[in-house]
Amino acid sequence: MPDSFWVETLGCPKNQVDSDKLTGTLLADGLTPADAPEDADLVVVNTCAFIEAARQESVDTVLALSEARRSGARLVVTGCMAERYGTELAEVLPEADAVAGFGVPVTLRTRADVPSLDLLNVPRPASAAPWAYVKVAEGCDRHCGFCAIPSFRGRQRSRSMDSVLAEVEALEVKEVVLVAQDLASYGRDVGAAGSIVPLVRAVAERVARVRLLYLYPSELDDELVDVICATGVPYFDLSLQHVAKGLLRRMRRWGDGRRFLGRIGAIRRRQPDAAFRSSFIVGYPGETEDDHDQLLRFIDEAQLDWAGFFAFSPEEGTYAADLDGQVPASLVAERLRELSEVQDRITAERRAALVGQKIDVLVDAPGIARSHREAPEIDGIVSVQADWDAGSFMEATVVAAAGPDLEAV
Ligand code: SF4
Repeated sequence: MPDSFWVETLGCPKNQVDSDKLTGTLLADGLTPADAPEDADLVVVNTCAFIEAARQESVDTVLALSEARRSGARLVVTGCMAERYGTELAEVLPEADAVAGFGVPVTLRTRADVPSLDLLNVPRPASAAPWAYVKVAEGCDRHCGFCAIPSFRGRQRSRSMDSVLAEVEALEVKEVVLVAQDLASYGRDVGAAGSIVPLVRAVAERVARVRLLYLYPSELDDELVDVICATGVPYFDLSLQHVAKGLLRRMRRWGDGRRFLGRIGAIRRRQPDAAFRSSFIVGYPGETEDDHDQLLRFIDEAQLDWAGFFAFSPEEGTYAADLDGQVPASLVAERLRELSEVQDRITAERRAALVGQKIDVLVDAPGIARSHREAPEIDGIVSVQADWDAGSFMEATVVAAAGPDLEAV
């Protein structure tokens, strides 16, 4: 009986792609998936290092799985935390048999015996769900003040279009969600700026739905908007982070609320059904009451379908970690509450406005579907009848809305 394995994934969609590839590699090496972590001979934890809370969750998970594993099972820590704090992490987590950046620990004998493998271009098994994330690049060439990702994921490395398309075809899914740290800059590192447009076109020829996540706002030009609308999934996930111009410059980022509203308005005029998501950092050093009020007004005016608000976390080694003007935690919590209240109301109203409309949905699992407005695992869902087949497209009429979710028949 070959060794069995369990992969536990924390963090963002990009990590899920790495875990899928790790799983594919372990399967190709003859290991079998275990039903539970307690049954596995090899337990891999794919960690997240995004902010302090994510790191704590990662460490807690490693400790819990170390407790739960059966005698003799090996425990390997990989992912962003391993990448960022390799040696340090190995010292504080003696429970782990190996701490490996994106190494794939297949034949572990000692703590040092970990071959390294670049996961970006590794093939992955066909997806169990009718949708899948596809990572088209790793790393990032920007220098946003709050972000540690470029320091441990390195500069952007885009995959070739052929490699991305081969993965898309092998997945055999109905919806592909393209991800990268800075998706719209795909290809720039190899002197092919703007190649996101032909990539989206080529993916759209192979799969019914293409969705793009994490678009840096300055990169969203007319051509990209056109190609996104032409795919039939007019979903715009804009990485805005804030709207107060001075604060955005302190974040070392482009844009301001006025430009963002202009762009959103233009897209809506072109495609009234367009759905928008964004995320914002609250309490970045130097954020004033006026900055916060600007963000509140923007949220009210922009009428985004979805938005996430995250407290600023001073990340070691980033530009913002030592900036003056740190905002007290209690004030950050109050601002987060205010913003979430306004957005929750807007989201609920926008969802309620869909009642009575016809929508096209992709059935993800019995009773659960999504239209173009909902990204998998991130936004709300559309509840549908349980006898519709997973993987099928159906036309449905929205009959009710409850907060972020819809019910359709
Ligand atoms: S674009 Fe995203 S990944 Fe790149 S530095 Fe900015 S926040 Fe980090």
